[in-house]
Amino acid sequence: MSKSMHKTPMLDQLESGPWPSFVTGLKRLATDEGKQYQDTMVDLLGQLELSYNTRKGYWKGGTLSVFGYGGGIIPRFSEVADQFPASKEFHTLRIMPPAGMHYNTKILRQLCDIWEKHGSGLIAFHGQSGDIMFQGATSEKVQESFDEINELGFDLGGAGPAVRTGMSCVGAARCEQSCANEQKILRLLVNNFLDDMHRPALPYKFKFKVSGCSNDCMNSIQRSDMSIIGTWRDDMNVDQQEVKAFVGQKGRKYVIDNVITRCPTKALSLNDDDTLAVDNPNCVRCMHCINVMTKALSPGDDKGVTILIGGKRTLKIGDTMGTVVVPFMKLDTEEAYEELKELAETIIDFFADNALEHERTGEMIERIGLANFIKAIGLDVDPNMISNPRESSYLRIDDWDKEAAKWNDRKAA
Ligand code: SF4
Repeated sequence: MSKSMHKTPMLDQLESGPWPSFVTGLKRLATDEGKQYQDTMVDLLGQLELSYNTRKGYWKGGTLSVFGYGGGIIPRFSEVADQFPASKEFHTLRIMPPAGMHYNTKILRQLCDIWEKHGSGLIAFHGQSGDIMFQGATSEKVQESFDEINELGFDLGGAGPAVRTGMSCVGAARCEQSCANEQKILRLLVNNFLDDMHRPALPYKFKFKVSGCSNDCMNSIQRSDMSIIGTWRDDMNVDQQEVKAFVGQKGRKYVIDNVITRCPTKALSLNDDDTLAVDNPNCVRCMHCINVMTKALSPGDDKGVTILIGGKRTLKIGDTMGTVVVPFMKLDTEEAYEELKELAETIIDFFADNALEHERTGEMIERIGLANFIKAIGLDVDPNMISNPRESSYLRIDDWDKEAAKWNDRKAA
């Protein structure tokens, strides 16, 4: 006979909105008759309700790992285990996803089976860190579940002051705009820095993210210390027949309002015969026109990557965007990939030697000066290096709920 559910009026409210609620998922697991995790989920809901009532979190960290690894497990011990004993340990295993997050359903089922057997049944695809988050293991079950996940070919991701789990966009497998082999770049970097991922020894975290084009679906400019983005350096491809068809379908006004005038560098003009003129040297590869006219426009043929360093979310000095340190690198030979790897090694070595404790690369560069950093990693200054590709990733509004209410009122008026 399993435990009876705690009363959870606060959590119940979260299910009343228009969107699916995580509370419903937790309740489903808590009513999974006969499963080994059922009581854990009942007490987890109880603890969560207590947190909502007292506005306090009751998880504390600790030290926990699996053999041979120094990171990758996030320990969670409950401070209110006397009230909720079944969820007194609720650790998370960070597991690296495959590049581009490509899975087949067989693997997904196997992962779910392992977690239903050893853990709470609760898996997040994917957490903020990019990992698959297997949440809710007891200390005793951590090694056993990792061994089985590892048997399937998956490895632990990074945690703490280490190279973190890398991410790449879905890439050429499903996206026609891809200008680089994202999967290969990510695997190359991850495999090369596995030691730095599994044994945290850096001043602070270091993240790689790879996007196949400057749509930057991985948000790598904002969210990674080393961002690798596919781009092209010749002229973009224009199919004038498709341009005409698009103008014929949408009308000249639409194209002028939504494509031509939205080019940030005014590199586009619409000819009288409904063809498109592109001033390629002035195009900054923002992808907007290509995104709108997908049949007519596509990236050029001379493809490669741009490398940016130092992006991160707010920490000591506010948000930083990655700075372009390599405007264009052609990745068409194994030697070129080797060069990319060596550049990453140089940057991480410099970061390890020179960053202060708890300081990201962007902050280190701000402190020591961009010119010194560029010199130290052995790159020649190039006018195409851009220190601030964009101004800000987000608008910060502290009283956002009040602002949202005002916005709703304005909309309704
Ligand atoms: Fe202009 Fe962006 Fe199109 Fe280049 S990609 S032509 S910058 S809209």
